[in-house]
Amino acid sequence: MFILRTLPYDLKALEPYMSAQTLEFHYGKHHQAYVDNLNKLIKGTEMAEMSLEDIIKLSAKQEDKKAIFNNAAQVYNHNIFWDCLRPADTKMEVPATLLTLIERDFSSLENMLSEFKRAALTQFGSGWAWLVKEGGKLKIMKTANADTAFLYGVTPILVLDVWEHSYYLDYQNRRGDFVSAIFNNLFNWDFAAKNAAL
Ligand code: FE
Repeated sequence: MFILRTLPYDLKALEPYMSAQTLEFHYGKHHQAYVDNLNKLIKGTEMAEMSLEDIIKLSAKQEDKKAIFNNAAQVYNHNIFWDCLRPADTKMEVPATLLTLIERDFSSLENMLSEFKRAALTQFGSGWAWLVKEGGKLKIMKTANADTAFLYGVTPILVLDVWEHSYYLDYQNRRGDFVSAIFNNLFNWDFAAKNAAL
């Protein structure tokens, strides 16, 4: 039985870049619903005792387990996503260890933002934009709907939820503005640096 993880900040902590109302719905309703649906779907099956990662691997690309995959992967993606954000009043520079890798692989932080933004904007419909590490090299990728980066043999470093439920109340259709605001004000670069060191 899975339970909804706790948030590492309070509901107002991300304002004005992500409102308490958005977080209340996004975390309290959407994320909670993925957890509840997953529990219902695996109840009484062999998956009830498995880790989230194993459930995702076993249900991926299985037509008869699509609902399980979608809910399990959404729980996993959101679990990481909340750690990728920091309270808006926390000043944070990109740690030198991570900045060195970013400059090596993208030339500059600004270029990385452009690539990240392009991935977020070209993700048609719902999905996720990721900064990942593959074979020691940083790269940007995107996944559709519930699909998750870890299935592709990469280490997730940062992820942004670009489903409409993530930004519509605060930014309406302006997904690009949402991406820039989060990138420049809310990304938790300390968390990213830890992941990049894995
Ligand atoms: Fe979401």
